[in-house]
Amino acid sequence: MSIAERESTVVEAAPKQLLIGGEWRDAGGGATLAVEDPSTGEAICEIADATPEDAQAAIDAAAEAQADWAATPPNERGEILWRAFELLGERADDLALLMTLEMGKTLAESKAEITYAAEFFRWFSGEALRIDGYFKVAGNAASRVLVMRQPVGPSYFITPWNFPNAMGTRKIGPAVAAGCTMVVKPAQQTPLSMLALAQLLAECGLPPGVLNVITGSSSSAISAPIIADRRLRKLSFTGSTEVGRKLIAQSADNVLKASMELGGNAPFLIFDDADLDAAIEGAMIAKMRNIGEACTSANRFHVAEPVASEFAERLASRMGKLRLGRGVDDGVDVGPLIDADQRSKVDELVRDAVDQGASCVVGGAIPDGAGYFYEPTVVADVPDSARLLREEIFGPVAPVKGFADEVEAIAAANDTEYGLVAYVYTADLKRALRVCEGLETGMIGLNQGMVSNAGAPFGGVKQSGIGREGGNEGIHEFLETKYVAVNV
Ligand code: NAP
Repeated sequence: MSIAERESTVVEAAPKQLLIGGEWRDAGGGATLAVEDPSTGEAICEIADATPEDAQAAIDAAAEAQADWAATPPNERGEILWRAFELLGERADDLALLMTLEMGKTLAESKAEITYAAEFFRWFSGEALRIDGYFKVAGNAASRVLVMRQPVGPSYFITPWNFPNAMGTRKIGPAVAAGCTMVVKPAQQTPLSMLALAQLLAECGLPPGVLNVITGSSSSAISAPIIADRRLRKLSFTGSTEVGRKLIAQSADNVLKASMELGGNAPFLIFDDADLDAAIEGAMIAKMRNIGEACTSANRFHVAEPVASEFAERLASRMGKLRLGRGVDDGVDVGPLIDADQRSKVDELVRDAVDQGASCVVGGAIPDGAGYFYEPTVVADVPDSARLLREEIFGPVAPVKGFADEVEAIAAANDTEYGLVAYVYTADLKRALRVCEGLETGMIGLNQGMVSNAGAPFGGVKQSGIGREGGNEGIHEFLETKYVAVNV
């Protein structure tokens, strides 16, 4: 089968309706919404455009399924996740192609995301069996303390377009393990990956109503009835800080347990004792993974002055060799950005820095032709006032700035309202620990350019979020603690 035939086969096979109470159905009124391939700007299919009534039906289904689902043996919940882990592996090629078509990244990157996404199912299949409580003698020995953990209850997940599958499994995995039912709303630009994931979970035995999926063009209109529903217990959101703030405000009325995985502005620090070859490798991963459209993307490179120019030159040489193109084509390293707005924003940030005296060592332009491509770019001599250093870029642009000493480096790294992740390259163990202690972030890559790992607590501090996904902490976001004072 040619690649063009495979493209139409996977798009045709993907579900395009809403999943409510175990049934695939059209949106009320039959409205649809186009899904676009960002590498061509052309529509690839239409999906259901849900109404607020559809959203209400989805939360009704989740609420109805909650009690039975919570009573399901942990073994069964774990086995469903394990089967889904295996099936994601078996279907990785098709799911990766579907993802590349709606999101743009290369097939290799989409496949890596499917592997990463599946890891959450593997991790949480085990966690289903490790939900514990405790029993102890009270301090005065007059009574006993019994502590039990129970599922939080119906949960609402809103996910972004940049990791269309993994940002789902990071929430669905622990919810299934804990015994929570859910409604998921994927980003309107990348709904197909989530719909395909829901279909796969149903095949693995997830009962009707446990996972409901709504897709639509008006995220606020379809979210409102769910967030306002008194039976909803939890809201878990991955997306921008701007939208996160609004959702925290909306969840106040219902006093929802809220998990927020928000934006980042990751500093990448390179000290003059660092292994520069390793730092360049790490920088390429931290900057170029997902075309720079990752919350963990290195947003600014703070480099010790003696090595700053050499680093910028060497990084530019690597970035300049990357081949732009459709993610489905062989030999392509970098796909398009998600849409025209995102590309304009990236270009605007580069222009702002250049207008203030910075210079592009490589890239800095929009290539001709269809699709939302942007050249991999390194910008040197970036002044402190440049928006490039302050705002989340979400594109293949690396600003480089020198620092004089460790104190200045830490202060520069922390000079942001964000606090998701930082990267530190140094060969000095004492310095490494000092700097890690001084950084105001939820995660740090120490001499490595990637932190994502299903077995580790992913999340941010400051305005990068509330809560953690993955690791030992992940399941606790979906459990309530109940204390029973026992009279003996
Ligand atoms: P976004 O604009 O905040 O959208 C994220 C999701 O929220 C989408 O499903 C969107 O739906 C929905 N949404 C937007 N406005 C809403 C509203 N008023 N009510 C309810 N839902 C609403 O973010 P994005 O551009 O998709 O994703 C990029 C952002 O996500 C970046 O800031 C990135 O750092 C962050 N991110 C964070 C993490 C993390 O773990 N910390 C991981 C990945 C991404 P529509 O598609 O319909 O607009």
